[in-house]
Amino acid sequence: MALLSIVLPSYNEEQNIARTAQALSGLCVQEQIEYELIFVSDGSRDGTYREILKAAEADPRVKGVQFSRNFGKEASIFAGLQIAAGDAVIVMDCDLQHPPQTIPRMWELWNQGYEVVEGIKTSRGREGFVHKCFAGAFYRIMSRLIKMDMNASSDYKLLDRKVVDVLLDLPEKNTFFRALTFWAGFKTVSVEYQVQERAYGESKWSFFSLMRYAVANATSFSTLPLQLVTVLGMISILFSLALAVQTLVKYLTGTAVEGFTTVILLILIIGGFIMLSLGVIGHYIARIYEEVKGRPRYIISQVTDNVHGNVIGSWKRRG
Ligand code: UDP
Ligand code: MG
Repeated sequence: MALLSIVLPSYNEEQNIARTAQALSGLCVQEQIEYELIFVSDGSRDGTYREILKAAEADPRVKGVQFSRNFGKEASIFAGLQIAAGDAVIVMDCDLQHPPQTIPRMWELWNQGYEVVEGIKTSRGREGFVHKCFAGAFYRIMSRLIKMDMNASSDYKLLDRKVVDVLLDLPEKNTFFRALTFWAGFKTVSVEYQVQERAYGESKWSFFSLMRYAVANATSFSTLPLQLVTVLGMISILFSLALAVQTLVKYLTGTAVEGFTTVILLILIIGGFIMLSLGVIGHYIARIYEEVKGRPRYIISQVTDNVHGNVIGSWKRRG
């Protein structure tokens, strides 16, 4: 019988672990799906890992690992994918904002032969106005950049074993899971779900962490900002040509003393362009630097007994 792995990145979610484990186990038993739950505690500083151990003791189908520190949600997702043994893997938040009721539908679609089932949000849940505007703008830009419609996409997905292996074999460390499944292709279908309210705890995202996330993801998928530097350069050159002609004419007609304002403005504008461009280039160099160092994406410090022993060092092989 086919096995379904459910990967649950968890960061400081001590109140949610037991509830989520129960809800998912109950659902899978009821639907007669053979399952395993993989909780990845992303360096949680509260009792999350203790709760995971407790859940694993009560049910051997619950597995868990603890990171040595907080590595971010992307890292926890990939650690979960690495550990998952299933023929299909579902990734979902462990705060039950991704409704488990969608799982049977995803499972059914997988059984029909779909290799990627994308969870699409019908409503974005309760979010602030500013947050909504930024998220909207971000996804519009991202959709353009990667030439795929990313609007309302989320990290709630089912992936076939094939797709999981493709993602695990990618050498890059700075990943954007949400877009990578679009990039990977495969036979894809989407299901809609409604984002639920968070029952306990609070969202881990601040405005600035979201901004960082947006920039990092946009630049990890596109080199368009680099090309914009070239465009800026061309505009400056056209501009300077026009001004050069004007300056020469003035010089030749003997009225060249004035124009100090122009000089100041030009220095300011061009200086601005140059620094901006250097910043953009610097950003990409920083990304190259990060990748070239080849550090592991995460470090696992503890695993529950039922997780295969060599997984602790598995980042050495796969990152
Ligand atoms: N998460 C994580 N590492 C982090 C931040 C978040 O593993 O550094 C997990 C978190 O425990 C949750 C999921 O990612 O299961 C989504 O996080 P959150 O609910 O804070 O985000 P939101 O639902 O507000 O987008
Ligand atoms: Mg959440």
